[in-house]
Amino acid sequence: MNEINSKLYLVATPIGNLDDMTFRAVKILNEVDLIAAEDTRRTRKLLTHFDIHTPLIHYDENNKNLVGEKIIERIKSGENVACVSDAGLPAISDPGSDLVKLAIEANIKVVPIPGANAALTALICSGLDTTKFTFVGFLPKTLKNCREVLESIKTHSETLIFYESPHHLKATLKILIEVLGNRQAVIARELTKIHEEFLRGDLELLSKIFLENDPLGEFVIVINGFNGSIEDNEISNDNLIDSYKKLLDNGLDKKSAMREVAKKFNISRREIYKLILESDNNE
Ligand code: SAM
Repeated sequence: MNEINSKLYLVATPIGNLDDMTFRAVKILNEVDLIAAEDTRRTRKLLTHFDIHTPLIHYDENNKNLVGEKIIERIKSGENVACVSDAGLPAISDPGSDLVKLAIEANIKVVPIPGANAALTALICSGLDTTKFTFVGFLPKTLKNCREVLESIKTHSETLIFYESPHHLKATLKILIEVLGNRQAVIARELTKIHEEFLRGDLELLSKIFLENDPLGEFVIVINGFNGSIEDNEISNDNLIDSYKKLLDNGLDKKSAMREVAKKFNISRREIYKLILESDNNE
């Protein structure tokens, strides 16, 4: 099959701070013939800010089949099209991936124009393990499906990343504690915006904060991966030391790691301190 010369560009837009728009994004959005946008009014505001006058077409989850085909036809006829979402990377918890599939099937070149993304922005400042992570995105709305998803990743050792709306944050924290246990976590709020903040602590503490203060803004929840096997909860010196070492590997300082182990096995910090000293001397 001949490759078509015109292209589909997937263009990242800022997740808050407009200065995070890249030069290349502005250039491409200026140059293409058409921009497929999740919310045309919102994207129009962004385009006005950057003095871009390219025509827009509404493309979202509801009209993706019909409009997706139309967009592909326009690219085949020689037009270059950019796809943007309301914020961040298209196709990440946002429309775009179906359009990419259609384009690939039609032998159209898909070009990424990278930029801001809420999940990775939260992860890099989380202080949790960044070497291995699972992006979960939004959990399902029903409790049953939500529990199923969490059960399936409960023993993953890599860091977990979730998106959540302010409306569901409290309920989500509750079920996260229930299924995953009281792990260390970071809630990144309003990334790149004026009220940006990172709330760090265990899930119970974070949940308490939002029970006392209603959640406002946009949130990413980053949670420590599983750091032992379920059977590891039984008390043995090896399990205690193992748990402690895994917590240190996950970035906790010695004092916090001891506190966590004490909580997990319900024994005093003094006992753990003694064990760690003994194990250090034996190494
Ligand atoms: N495509 C986007 C990306 O690449 O990050 C994600 C879009 S998804 C529909 C929106 C969710 O992303 C929000 O509910 C929130 O969980 C997260 N999010 C987006 N912007 C954010 C921000 N500035 N601060 C914190 N979370 C944000």
